[in-house]
Amino acid sequence: MNAYHRDTWVEVDADAIASNVKSARSLYQKKGKELELMAVVKADGYGHGATEVAKVALAAGATHLAVAFLDEALLLRREGISAPILVMGYVPPEDAEYAQRERIAVTVFQLEWLKRATAVVKAEAPPLAVHIKVDTGMGRIGVRSSGEVVTVASFVKEEERFSLEGLFTHFATADENDVSYFNRQHRLFMDVVTIFEKESLAPTHIHCGNSAAGLRFPAKMFTMFRFGISMYGLTPSPEITDQLPFGLKPALSLRTKLVQVKKMSAGEGISYGATYTTKEGEWIGTLPVGYADGWIRANSTTGGYVLVNGEKAPFVGKICMDQCMIRLPRQLEVGTTVTLIGEDAGAEITMGAVAARLETINYEVPCLLSKRMPRVYKKGGEVYHVSSLLNRK
Ligand SMILES: *Cc1c(COP(=O)(O)O)cnc(C)c1O
Repeated sequence: MNAYHRDTWVEVDADAIASNVKSARSLYQKKGKELELMAVVKADGYGHGATEVAKVALAAGATHLAVAFLDEALLLRREGISAPILVMGYVPPEDAEYAQRERIAVTVFQLEWLKRATAVVKAEAPPLAVHIKVDTGMGRIGVRSSGEVVTVASFVKEEERFSLEGLFTHFATADENDVSYFNRQHRLFMDVVTIFEKESLAPTHIHCGNSAAGLRFPAKMFTMFRFGISMYGLTPSPEITDQLPFGLKPALSLRTKLVQVKKMSAGEGISYGATYTTKEGEWIGTLPVGYADGWIRANSTTGGYVLVNGEKAPFVGKICMDQCMIRLPRQLEVGTTVTLIGEDAGAEITMGAVAARLETINYEVPCLLSKRMPRVYKKGGEVYHVSSLLNRK
């Protein structure tokens, strides 16, 4: 177990992740249609730690993993993860041999890419698994016409260095109440699937859903769904929270401890610019967390606060790179635990509340939490693993 020597840490509840995965799986078992679950662990598992989340998700019944870039997939392999992995973003064709060597599936949406990759992929090794991406309305990456998609698929089928393993698309509005755009994308994807079936090109894995689509429209998910944000216990959007089929369990808490507590008299300045001036007799606490940890400066200017023994304590003054200050309800002991995100003594600061305050989405907040903070993993309330970038061997 990696040590760490600072009083700020990201706590990840492995039981919550396992529970979210199991709930999603039972949703599909109930519908009498056993779908596979692809756990999305890109961006270091949305800041929760990709390797550990992958292990927990696989143990709870996920069968595949997905990441954004090849380096994220290669890291999982180095960490000993042997499950199937899909890189959902672009892989430089000249790097395709690394994917092939590590049995990592890649996303393909250009014929030119296949031609260039053919030059580096080995004929004598097991073929490179390919998932073809169709752009049905996201406008990001993907083959854009059914004629072109057949050309790409046929190339993969005919070239022995590749194996056609998947076909997928991605929705732009699955997290909105209005389903008209979603339905149009779904119809376009259905048309492509139908063509694939007619041409005997249909691969083993056909997938289209992210968390929002997978949880709201189980009957429309083909063979697999890509479970991201809600695996971490977070809603895809506040708008559809009441449409989710089960209660999500948030996995992440951000905690620190008071390192100094002082009584300040009236008229004293706090932090850079001395923008906050104390009134008579305020108890001020210093926290060893700052914007270099991803706890951005806007947290103090948008009315942010922490929980101490379940009570609110607001940030005062500017947040520094490594430290910040809060106004305490009363004198408290140095070493008292402070919660920036998560539950504390019956109160809670949700990821959604932090995101709303910062005028962003809940996805962004954990992604910003820097690797300078150790990730501490708990099962049954007990710490079982610590991962720390600074103290790695
Ligand atoms: C990130 C991503 C997902 C996961 O989406 P969530 O909304 O987090 O469930 C699924 N598919 C693709 C292509 C993605 O980029």
